[in-house]
Amino acid sequence: MTTENPIERLTEARHEFGEHGGVNMSIEVSTAFTVMTPGTMPDLFEGRKAAPEGCYLYGRHFNPTVFNLGRQLAAIEGTEAAYCTASGMAAISATLFQLCQSGDHIVSSNTVYGGSYALMHDFLPQKSNINTSFVDISDLNAVAAAITENTKVIYAESVSNPTLRVADIPALAELAHSRGLALVIDNTFSPLILSPAELGADVVVHSMTKFINGASDVIAGAICGTTDFIQSLMDLHNGPLMILGPTMDPSVASQISLRIPHLALRLSEHAKRAQYFAKKLDDLGFDVTYPGLATHPDHQLMNKLHCEDYGYGAILTLDLGSIEKANDLMDLLQNKYHFGYMAVSLGYFDTLMCCPGSSTSSEMTKEDLSSAGISSGLLRMSVGYTGTVEQRWQQLAGALQDAGLMS
Ligand code: PLP
Repeated sequence: MTTENPIERLTEARHEFGEHGGVNMSIEVSTAFTVMTPGTMPDLFEGRKAAPEGCYLYGRHFNPTVFNLGRQLAAIEGTEAAYCTASGMAAISATLFQLCQSGDHIVSSNTVYGGSYALMHDFLPQKSNINTSFVDISDLNAVAAAITENTKVIYAESVSNPTLRVADIPALAELAHSRGLALVIDNTFSPLILSPAELGADVVVHSMTKFINGASDVIAGAICGTTDFIQSLMDLHNGPLMILGPTMDPSVASQISLRIPHLALRLSEHAKRAQYFAKKLDDLGFDVTYPGLATHPDHQLMNKLHCEDYGYGAILTLDLGSIEKANDLMDLLQNKYHFGYMAVSLGYFDTLMCCPGSSTSSEMTKEDLSSAGISSGLLRMSVGYTGTVEQRWQQLAGALQDAGLMS
């Protein structure tokens, strides 16, 4: 890497012309690539001429368009390499499969996306005898105490879904490395805002379905790490990306690469608006959680770790005390005031709202929901940037009044 600034690194990584000198990179649609001499093919299969330095082989292995998008992700995250996958879940599962063997153990944050929880809580133990202990990741003593002789990975989200706790990545990295473990961080909620690899994480995963793509029209993921790690995911015998095959389509890679140039602008506008609404709601006495509020338990930690240019993210939560109140409010917000949509996912240009306890975290057991602090009336809001801030606040305030939550 030539610079410490992710935006400068990104500009360099995007210096890729299309086939005819186009300002956008071309889409390589081929799934098979020719070799000029018969001897090259055995070289490729035996790993002596692997892409991208050598030749491309087959679309499930490396594709040039997908590889170029990976270079942009590596630039954003400050890692040696990155490769893109068909979904965020593919990125997470391939990473954990690569770092753990049957009988190994993971220490995970107890507040992670419901699909990641299900992967570690249900799928991996049943299919692969890889077991996970879920702990409060903010309690370093609890994390240390959960490590066993079989532990290989500490896993956390940089900003947790949906509780918005901020992982102390430098402290977790120190603990992980002192015990010979890998620290894997899901940075889906905070691209550019936090740079986990620069703070000590070994592997950074993303659901690019969210902010990085930003238009809720593609499912995509990425794995960022060392060149050796990315190459190991592609091993013809054991690499989980090569063998399980969650390949990104090159046209999707092209689509996402056209949105990355305005990621920084989008993130700062998302954050400006989320901060504005969070402050207003907090001043009105609502039970609002947002890392940009001084009352947030990790506000000081976030101040230490984040890049100020992108604020504190787009996501806030509002605990309304019951699912009925949360549903009434969302109904008004969508159907009367047109403030946003009742939908899962996040990072869209419009506001998206859901109650994670009965949707995106519903895979969790009742006990685990309760220990993670995910109550049934918790409403998660991914604050969009369409409309004017004042217009959007009037809509939100109107719905709060109609719902009897504000006078
Ligand atoms: N990680 C986080 C934090 C998420 O919120 C999600 C999905 O909501 C995922 C991973 C999974 O991503 P995908 O839906 O792209 O597989």
